[in-house]
Amino acid sequence: MADVLQAGESVPFSGVYKVVHSGQQSEAHYVLALRGEAFPGCLRCSDQVKFQLALSAIHVVTHPFFHSGQRVKIG
Ligand SMILES: [Zn+2]
Repeated sequence: MADVLQAGESVPFSGVYKVVHSGQQSEAHYVLALRGEAFPGCLRCSDQVKFQLALSAIHVVTHPFFHSGQRVKIG
C-alpha cells in the first residue's frame, strides 16, 4: 500500500492521488498533484485529510521522449 501523506507535506511524485477526508463529509475522490507542491489542507476537515498516490504520472514535456533538450533514440 502506498504511503499516506498529509496536508502540508510535500508532494513526492506528480500524479493522481486518492483523497480520504475525515468522517463522513465526503466520499474518497481523486486529485492531480504536482511534485514539489505542498498538499493543501481541506476547508472542511483541515489537516485530517489524507492523500495516497494512486497513479504516478509526470508532465508530458518533462518526459525524456518529449523533452526538447534531450535526444531520445527510439527503436
Ligand atoms: Zn476534508
